[in-house]
Amino acid sequence: MISKLPDVGTTIFTVMSSLAMECNAINLGQGFPDFPMSSELTDLVAKAMRDGNNQYVHMNGLALLRERIAEKCAKLYGAKLSADSQITVTPGGTYGIYTALTTILHPGDEVIVFEPAYDSYIPNIVINGAVPVRISLEYPQYSIPWDEVRQKVTGKTKAIIINSPHNPTGAVLSANDIAQLSDITMGTKIMIISDEVYEHLIYDNLQHESILRYPDLLEKSFVCFSFGKTYHCTGWKIGYCVSSAPLMKEFRKVHQFNCFSCNSTVQFALAEYLLNEDAYLSLGKLMEKKRNFLRKLMSNTPFKLIPSHGSYFECYSYAEFSDERDKDLAIRLTRENAVATIPMSSFYKDETDNRVLRFCFAKKEETLERAIQRLVS
Ligand code: GLN
Repeated sequence: MISKLPDVGTTIFTVMSSLAMECNAINLGQGFPDFPMSSELTDLVAKAMRDGNNQYVHMNGLALLRERIAEKCAKLYGAKLSADSQITVTPGGTYGIYTALTTILHPGDEVIVFEPAYDSYIPNIVINGAVPVRISLEYPQYSIPWDEVRQKVTGKTKAIIINSPHNPTGAVLSANDIAQLSDITMGTKIMIISDEVYEHLIYDNLQHESILRYPDLLEKSFVCFSFGKTYHCTGWKIGYCVSSAPLMKEFRKVHQFNCFSCNSTVQFALAEYLLNEDAYLSLGKLMEKKRNFLRKLMSNTPFKLIPSHGSYFECYSYAEFSDERDKDLAIRLTRENAVATIPMSSFYKDETDNRVLRFCFAKKEETLERAIQRLVS
């Protein structure tokens, strides 16, 4: 068989999580919490299941859940959304991004993607016969070089992928970044894929600049969200995508013959749980505490902080004390110190290696404490 993705191996998250298990290591690699999720929400799922809500719901998602999502988006971002035509429930954020790209891309189209990039973006572009146009974020702040974006826009540019708060760096886009994006795309047919799965995981009193705040941009955007990140249930694989009605109509053509409809039971539970605003509004503070805790622990190590302002992650440079390749170091630390991380070069197609590792701090304090102890021992 001729591979459609000849350059693609197994995702680094699975590679490092498998190695972590094999080595009995503490896993600060793949992003998932190790603390319990809300029992109120698990009770709601159990109840929904016992109540018999176990058959397909509408392919676009349970209507009540979509209405509650629309209410939430109105409250948080002032977005006036039609639950009927602009919101689709998806099996996770990654699926939403893949579906959006598959909806819009034709062979030969170009998509601007910023590196380090979440590892699914480029294969999602390539499998659709389109061409990734890679732009490096400016190290070490990981900010977008907008002048370079202007230079790289061509008549073939179909979309720009943005991601804030950013995985893997924790960088956050500002209102000025969105103004630049708006300026570049204005009057063009360029679409925006906005990965906002970490919308609530934002720190240092920053505001999440959701595309949903900008009606003109939403007209040409697909905005992807994740309940897994918001409610500490990444394994449930459930989220949603928001777009304009005409774009969403096309998105649903692809979605209906792939996933068709998502897990129904959890949708009943989530519709109820979304009424509890505090559950998502308190999230930023909780995770910021964990980030600060990791920072404090890491300040006693030779690793140098590259500050994160959002997401589950904080990155650390070791360039000052070692010239080992980041993949080699990540593997060695897993094997020898029993702590798994993610090497940053995995998020660059050309494996750019600034000697940086990504640490996930969505963990109990005791987990972080034990991990950093192991790192320095
Ligand atoms: N988003 C998670 C991370 O960055 C991983 C999700 C996955 O493994 N596909 O670690």
